[in-house]
Formats: sequence, structure tokens, C-alpha cells
Amino acid sequence: MNRIQPTKIEALERAVKGDVLRPGEPAYDEARKIWNAMIDKRPALIVRCATTEDAVRGVEFARENGLLLAIRGGGHNIAGLALCDEGLVIDLSRMKGVKVDARARRASVEGGARLADVDAATQAHGLATPLGINSTTGVAGLTLGGGFGWLTRKHGLTVDNLESAGVVTAAGEVVRASATENPDLFWAIRGGGGNFGVVTRFEFRLHPLGPGVLSGLIVYPISEARSVLREYRELAAKAPEDLTVWAILRHAPPLPFLPKETHGKGIVALAVFYAGEPKKGEPLVEPLRKFGEPLGEHVGAQPYVAWQQAFDPLLAPGARNYWKSHNFTRLEDGLFDAVIGAAEKLPSPHCEIFLGALGGVASAPAPDATAYSERDAQFVINVHSRWEKPADDGRCVGWARSFFEAAAPFASGGVYVNFLSADEGDRVRAAYGRNYDRLVRVKRSVDPDNLFRVNQNIRP
Ligand SMILES: Cc1cc2nc3c(=O)[nH]c(=O)nc-3n(C[C@H](O)[C@H](O)[C@H](O)COP(=O)(O)OP(=O)(O)OC[C@H]3O[C@@H](n4cnc5c(N)ncnc54)[C@H](O)[C@@H]3O)c2cc1C
Repeated sequence: MNRIQPTKIEALERAVKGDVLRPGEPAYDEARKIWNAMIDKRPALIVRCATTEDAVRGVEFARENGLLLAIRGGGHNIAGLALCDEGLVIDLSRMKGVKVDARARRASVEGGARLADVDAATQAHGLATPLGINSTTGVAGLTLGGGFGWLTRKHGLTVDNLESAGVVTAAGEVVRASATENPDLFWAIRGGGGNFGVVTRFEFRLHPLGPGVLSGLIVYPISEARSVLREYRELAAKAPEDLTVWAILRHAPPLPFLPKETHGKGIVALAVFYAGEPKKGEPLVEPLRKFGEPLGEHVGAQPYVAWQQAFDPLLAPGARNYWKSHNFTRLEDGLFDAVIGAAEKLPSPHCEIFLGALGGVASAPAPDATAYSERDAQFVINVHSRWEKPADDGRCVGWARSFFEAAAPFASGGVYVNFLSADEGDRVRAAYGRNYDRLVRVKRSVDPDNLFRVNQNIRP
């Protein structure tokens, strides 16, 4: 920091419409907080952009002054890749605008928008695009890694619904990437993360949905987990694209529809979502109630935006978090043993293991159609270790790692790049498979000096 002349920083301040924050300023500490409280990085400068031109100024400043450069979208990345120590952060969190063209079924979304911003704006027109399951997640990071959630089996990954993007390159140029303009760049940003530039605008395809969607939870005791998971596997194999069911093993939160005496006890919860007309979904949901003796359930038609926020209270920012994740093409009995074994030893009341369902339309494109290559993954399992006190770090991280080892023999070898923790840079190739070499070629052409390297890095 000392090596940047104050006059240069003052010139940057004058050049941007947003703010430039430095250590010691009142807003600085708030601006360096991100979702995962384990991350405590101190950038030299945070450029809180108001416009795409501000992002251009930030890129130029970092390049000209030899500064490490990070990009912050929603700040949810588990590995803390929204921030860097000592360098410059291009913070897009103020650029949250969403414009919907309902007739064309398109949304234009600024690079700092959260999922909730897009869901609210699109649902105002009875439309939606596939995003994730926690409404405070950033659209940018989620999309650039692939993006999956409740609509993915029906409409594909978030990247499969990306029509175009506005990208600030390492050279400081603003370019449009689409199937016809800069097609290599467009291919690379659909899964390749923040390696290729600052995306300040995304254009998504939208689909009619809701506003009421059949969704909710059916909850079983952990003692029934083995048979519930086996039934779940059967059901998932036959499920139509409209139906998505995830299984979550954790301690029961104090949900009003669960008997009080079960709160804090081990459960397996089935999170159910039907993307079609709610009445048509009811017969498909019915068998899920017969996997055993449920402790309780809360399933019905509710606004899509409410369902998109249903998990927010369990995923609030400010806790310490560590994740380990595998992809699976099938669920084997041995895997269920590993899942249940770990669920019986949850090291904190906030830890969970979730089995997320992919497949459906998300499996249709060829693995090389986009940089995201994991088209054969039918399930992703994320072990989400979450706790409050630094003194518990070792215990909680250790639990996640030992489940990861136990599950490895049953996994596909692939992984979702957005679920990689800070110590997993060696798994980046596994996230891209055969697409890795093409990603390197695109990286060499648009960012040969690796200016954009605070990410799951593709080295030029
Ligand atoms: C509670 C929680 C729930 C989640 N649920 C889902 C889910 O359901 N589905 C799913 O697919 N993923 C999910 N994720 C993972 C999520 O996709 C990643 O954490 C993603 O990185 C978040 O994006 P962000 O913009 O919030 O992240 P940030 O931390 O801001 O950024 C993440 C990475 O993307 C880069 N980046 C961010 N913005 C830009 C930009 N505008 N231009 C270029 N690069 C940029 C950053 O440099 C960084 O490398 C979840 C994460 C959390 C914490």
C-alpha cells in the first residue's frame, strides 16, 4: 500500500462515480465483511463501483500499479475469493439493477445483484430464471461457476440461460460476449468463473413460473435415514424434470410444524419443489410422505419468491463455514453409510450434509458446450460445516474432511467449482475435466498476465 502514491489514489477517487475505501475509513470494515466469517482479508483499496466505467478504472489502476485484483459480486464464495489482502477489490455490490423485458422474456442484471433482486423483478411478470437456493447469494459468482437450484432440472443451469454478458477485460475494454460476439469468451465465462474479466451485466432468458409453486419440507427422523435415502434414490431416478427433491441431514431447526421434542434432534429433510401447475405436482409429491413415518411436513403452494428465501435463516452471513463437495452419477448404499455415519456425528447444531439433485435438462448439453463440464452429475453432495467460535475450527473442519474421505470412493471425481474451499486449488482441473485446456487457451488470449487470479485460477 505504501508504494502507491496518495496523489494516484486521489486521482482514482476523482475518476470514479462510486467510492474508494481505504483502511481506517468508517465504511472500510463493513465493506470487507463477506458471508464466511472465517475470511478476514484487508485490501489496500476497495472500489465500490457505481458504473461499468468505475470497474474499468479499477482494472486499469490495479494493472498500472501492479496490485493484486479481486472482484466482489455477492461476497458468498466459501473460499473468500471476493477479497484479497493488500490489493484492490472491485466491489460491485452497489450495482444491483435488474431490468425485465417481459415480452422478450429477458432480464438484464447488473453484476452486483443478489438472487433476491432477480427473483423479485422477474416474478413481478410471472417469470423466472434458474438460480440458487439462498436468496442473498450473488448472481455473478453463481452464474460464472455454472449455477443450479430448483429450476435447473426443468430449465438447465444458470449458464444455460445466459444470452449475453458485458465484460471488462484485463486490457480495460468493455466487450459484449454472446454466441455471436466473442464466442470463445462467452463459452469460457459459462463456468470458468471470474478468470476472464469483470462481468458488469448479465442477460438471462426467462420462463413463465408461478407465482404459486408447490414446495416445502417433509421431515423424517435420522433413525429412518437409510430407508428414506433408498426411497429417495428410487424416486429421483424416475422424477420428471418438473420435480426436484433435495435431501438434507442435520439437527432439526425449531420449525413450527415439527414437534418441540424433535427440535435439535437428527433429521433427514426432503426439500420438495415442483416447477409446474401445483395441482399436477401433488400426486408426484404424495409418495414422498410414505418413505416412513414423517415427524412433520409443510408442503403447499406458496409464492416462488418465498420458497427462494426459505433457507435464508439457516444460511445467514456471519458464521464460520467450511465446505467439502463431490459430484455423483449415482447414489450407492456405501455412500449412504458414509452420509449417515457423518450425520450422526454433527459437530455443531448448524452443520449439515445436503444431497442436491441435478440431471434433467441440465444433463442435455454436451460436456464441451460450455466451460461448465459436469453434465453427467446427477447429484452434488456438499458437506456444510458451520459453527460460531474459532475454538471449534479444528473439530468442525476435521468433521467435513473425514466425511469427504469416506464419500470419495463413491463419487464421480468431478466437482462444482463454486463449492471449492480455499485449500482446494488442486481440484480446479477436476471441475473442468477436458474443458480445462480450452479454458487455458482462452485465458492466454484475454488475460495472459493473469490479472484476474483471485479465483479458482486457470493459469495461462
Ligand atoms: C449460503 C450459500 C448458498 C449457496 N447456494 C448455491 C446454490 O444453490 N447453487 C449454486 O450454484 N451455488 C450456490 N452457492 C455457491 C455460490 O454459487 C458461490 O459461492 C458463488 O461464488 C457466489 O457468488 P457471489 O457473487 O456471491 O460470490 P463472490 O464471493 O462475490 O465471488 C465469487 C467469485 O466470483 C468472482 N466474481 C464475482 N462477481 C464477479 C463479476 N461480476 N465478474 C467477474 N467475476 C466475479 C469473484 O472474483 C470470485 O472469484 C451458495 C453459496 C452460499 C454461501
